[in-house]
Amino acid sequence: MSTIAENLETVRQRVAAAAGRSGRKPGDVELLVVSKTFPAEVVREAADAGQTLFGENKVQELLAKIPLLPSSLRWHLIGHLQSNKVRKVLPFVEAIHSVTSLDLAKDINRIAGELGLFPKVYLEINVGAEASKFGFDAKSVCGQLEELYKLDRLFIQGLMCIPPFAPEVEKSRPYFAGLRELRDKLEKLGGAPLPKLSMGMSHDFEIAVEEGATIVRVGSAIFGSRAVPQPQ
Ligand SMILES: *Cc1c(COP(=O)(O)O)cnc(C)c1O
Repeated sequence: MSTIAENLETVRQRVAAAAGRSGRKPGDVELLVVSKTFPAEVVREAADAGQTLFGENKVQELLAKIPLLPSSLRWHLIGHLQSNKVRKVLPFVEAIHSVTSLDLAKDINRIAGELGLFPKVYLEINVGAEASKFGFDAKSVCGQLEELYKLDRLFIQGLMCIPPFAPEVEKSRPYFAGLRELRDKLEKLGGAPLPKLSMGMSHDFEIAVEEGATIVRVGSAIFGSRAVPQPQ
């Protein structure tokens, strides 16, 4: 087995164990393998090991990589999306985790209508209220829900977050629990299910799963560390 195949297996087992600790089955939590900055031949090793679901944070890199890899792979966009790139990326992704504002949601909805698509989206919540990050404010999103539900091309799956980075992973737990609680609140408010929680990265995915993540976004625990720190 290649190292990547071994890493994948280890991460899968850790996800499954954490799912068990939260009273769920391994199949209840999806693993999104984040391939940003890694070349197609490296990504192919993960695909050869049976992984089909991948995530990228930049539109340009995503569009460059897709044609180099098997067409059976599924792609999610997880990074900041500018409105002027929506049209380019929409036909190629199964879901967008980074819907960070009502304006962006409206743009995606309009363009999806023009293209005849019904994209799956996650609302990214700026759980740490960090000035350096994009995302809905946890308080004001409640007041924007009605407008969001008017966007009839969007399948709103649930919520996504990136907690403030902390070396001690337990510091992420309250943010993950908070995202779950916000989800519960929005479900009541909107009267519609928001079943998915996209949370947890290489250093904290087990805690995220314990707190209810349904999809974890894991890169460096599988491919090794990236040469350059990446903006999120
Ligand atoms: C890079 C990235 C990840 C994966 O980070 P790792 O620490 O490599 O697992 C997850 N989510 C987002 C939004 C990212 O940009």
